[in-house]
Amino acid sequence: MGDVKGFINYKRVDFKKEKVDKRLNHWNEFAIPMKEQELKDQGARCMDCGIPFCQSGCPVSNIIPDWNDLVYRENWEEAYYRLARTNNFPEFTGRICPAPCENACTLAINKDAVTIKNIEVSIIEKAFANGWVKANPPKKRSGKKIAIVGSGPAGLACADELNKASHFVTVFEKNEFIGGLLTLGIPNFKA
Ligand code: SF4
Repeated sequence: MGDVKGFINYKRVDFKKEKVDKRLNHWNEFAIPMKEQELKDQGARCMDCGIPFCQSGCPVSNIIPDWNDLVYRENWEEAYYRLARTNNFPEFTGRICPAPCENACTLAINKDAVTIKNIEVSIIEKAFANGWVKANPPKKRSGKKIAIVGSGPAGLACADELNKASHFVTVFEKNEFIGGLLTLGIPNFKA
């Protein structure tokens, strides 16, 4: 916890959204990313709770206080590695997850919760922009071959984990595009 008074000194700020008359003309994302300083201030609001309810509220148990602090300290690369430890696809969850972590955040008892979701998606976008997201094939393979049927988020996350565990994985998909619901069910503007 870098800034012990961050939750007092800074108010919650969310991504701004494109004006309605503009976004009516397209189906793309309409959230406007925040500047680094704004994200740093939002990271400073995290109290690094002894029992981080955000983490238990997160379906993938993201280590949220750690990367809030790393963003506050402007160590974005380490924030990405910490996020990637628990989350196979923060580029999806940072956009479409309903953020139960924020409902669970201790600050939400009597203030606005930490803006966890916006920080999450900002970390992964920065990681892609800086080339930190790389293929990392295991040095040795187990020799076992595994088929995953369906390339939705569960199938892809499963494939990622099994690959990390050194198995050969093949993902099968009946549709023209991989991604399942992510590609064919969720519109691009969904946030
Ligand atoms: S519950 Fe909220 S304030 Fe506490 S560690 Fe998690 S994000 Fe930070």
